[in-house]
Amino acid sequence: MSETIFSKIIAREIPADIIFEDDQCLAFRDINPQAPTHFLVIPKKPIPKLSDATAEDQGLLGHLLLVASQIAAEQGLTDFRLNVNNGAGASQTVFHLHVHVLGGRAFSWPPG
Ligand code: AMP
Repeated sequence: MSETIFSKIIAREIPADIIFEDDQCLAFRDINPQAPTHFLVIPKKPIPKLSDATAEDQGLLGHLLLVASQIAAEQGLTDFRLNVNNGAGASQTVFHLHVHVLGGRAFSWPPG
């Protein structure tokens, strides 16, 4: 997989507002927030997009969701939205899997 801006954040080659890290993942605030709270949870493993994940990633994918929920709670969020864009047609722009976590405002449904 080619380098992305997120692999550079993992490697500390570019700065980010990192709010959580463990052996499997990293979370940092989105540089262009779409809600009062907007952070990204990414695996350290360079999976380009969700549809590239395999059965061996099952535990990792679950971990990303649990970390997202735990950080949301730490940020004082009770209601929040998770979003994963898979592919350019779904507005994915950075091809390193990431879970958007947004909160602090009301959200409509269906999403745009
Ligand atoms: P997506 O469109 O799902 O690929 O989302 C990529 C997200 O990464 C966007 O919300 C961007 O604002 C965010 N982003 C891009 N570069 C950075 C960066 N250097 N630090 C933090 N967030 C970033």
